[in-house]
Amino acid sequence: MTYEAVIGLEIHAQLQAGTKIFCGCSTVFGAPPNTHVCPVCLGFPGVLPVLNRSAVDLGIRAALALGCRINETSIFARKNYFYPDLPKGYQISQYEQPLASAGSVSFAMPDGPRRVGITRVHLEEDAGKSLHEGFPDSDRTTYVDFNRAGVPLIEIVTEPDLRSAADAAEFFSRLRAILVWLDVNDGNMDEGSLRCDANVSVRPAGTAALGTKAEVKNLNSFRFLQKALEFEIERQRALVGDGIRVVQETRLFDVSTGTTVSMRSKEEAHDYRYFPEPDLPPVRVSAERLAAVRERMIELPDARRQRFVAAFGLPEYDAAQLTQSRHSADFFEATVTAGAPAKTASNWIRGELARVLNDTGRSMADPPVSPTRLAELLRLVEAGTISGAIAKTVFEKMVVSADSAEAIVRRDGLTQIDDEGAIIALIADVLTRNTDAVAGYRAGKTATFGFLVGQVMKAAGGKANPKRVTELLKQALA
Ligand code: ADP
Ligand code: MG
Ligand code: ZN
Repeated sequence: MTYEAVIGLEIHAQLQAGTKIFCGCSTVFGAPPNTHVCPVCLGFPGVLPVLNRSAVDLGIRAALALGCRINETSIFARKNYFYPDLPKGYQISQYEQPLASAGSVSFAMPDGPRRVGITRVHLEEDAGKSLHEGFPDSDRTTYVDFNRAGVPLIEIVTEPDLRSAADAAEFFSRLRAILVWLDVNDGNMDEGSLRCDANVSVRPAGTAALGTKAEVKNLNSFRFLQKALEFEIERQRALVGDGIRVVQETRLFDVSTGTTVSMRSKEEAHDYRYFPEPDLPPVRVSAERLAAVRERMIELPDARRQRFVAAFGLPEYDAAQLTQSRHSADFFEATVTAGAPAKTASNWIRGELARVLNDTGRSMADPPVSPTRLAELLRLVEAGTISGAIAKTVFEKMVVSADSAEAIVRRDGLTQIDDEGAIIALIADVLTRNTDAVAGYRAGKTATFGFLVGQVMKAAGGKANPKRVTELLKQALA
């Protein structure tokens, strides 16, 4: 019998909402422990949470991008449990009535399309962090850092629609791209800004009933998600194949061994005793507010890719590459707006600019040449003032100075040689110096033509118009 895997993900994404969700404390990562705290996020008695408006708007923005329905009323609830990093003794989350429901995400895998249902998107606060390492007495003492307590999160819960570890990793990476694109999340998985719990079960292929699931907690990279799922699917297949039942439990992925290990079983599962948070009113999203969020919605990567093909005549491949990040898509559009031909701009951004970024360790967020400056360079090529080859030299110089393309061309005398007389003189000189090649060409060895073109270009310091050189060389050899 063959068994298929069934996977559903729960993803926590930190919202870039300026402050924590119920107080004005900073959410900046990496501050000294317990410096971004106040009576609200430390759970002092007698203080009241006040909801961060922009966290709600970012949650709505994300949910809209995931095709969800935004619920007119959603309710904060207390999720009660004891843990040292949770000073109030409960986490404020949304339970029965989440911010948004019933969306979906579609994407393509090499063997076909995929569609993953989004069950819900809800708002909640993060907990603090227990520090088990890094102190002289860490063998005896655990410290707690509350800087993360109260940081605004959305939790995105998918339907159990994924069927393989590779699909799950691809979905998670698409989701990250969307959230980062929308400025909802910073995408820093190493800092814990985005993390994923994976629920997985197996069942006989072709059957509909769900098997018993295990949940692998806190996966903070696409690769770890994929590895953890691959291991877990095989573990469950082996069990079920041997007629042993999978037990419902929470497991942890051990990065060093690539295996998952049991953390707690269902019997040890918490009873969270959820109840509505009495200190916060229900969240109401009016039609006007929803319209305002839609208004400020940033065009999504898929839509932008299609527009690049339709409006600029770009090949699908170019459009897909340019829309991998908003920075590169913006850079491309600004270059075209500044007067560069679209396809040339695309080639340069994906070619020369990408190479320079790679070599210098910079990113599209901080490019060494602005779109306006690149457009100016490409206009010089378009106008025939410089050749494409010379343009690359000019570009190198633009990267390390603030000079314009035109200034560099003028200063270094790089203007393309178009003048017929000048090119004919160069050709004549090359032909007298390469009598063997000329004789070879005339005897039918046409491959020497390319060699002669190369010699002329070299004599011209790369500046001769290659089209004119080809024409005039043919005439000279005729
Ligand atoms: P729980 O109550 O244990 O949190 P939920 O029904 O809330 O379970 O589902 C949590 C996540 O687990 C969702 O992403 C859901 O799609 C997924 N899931 C639920 N049942 C299964 C199953 N049998 N196999 C795989 N994934 C599942
Ligand atoms: Mg659940
Ligand atoms: Zn605070």
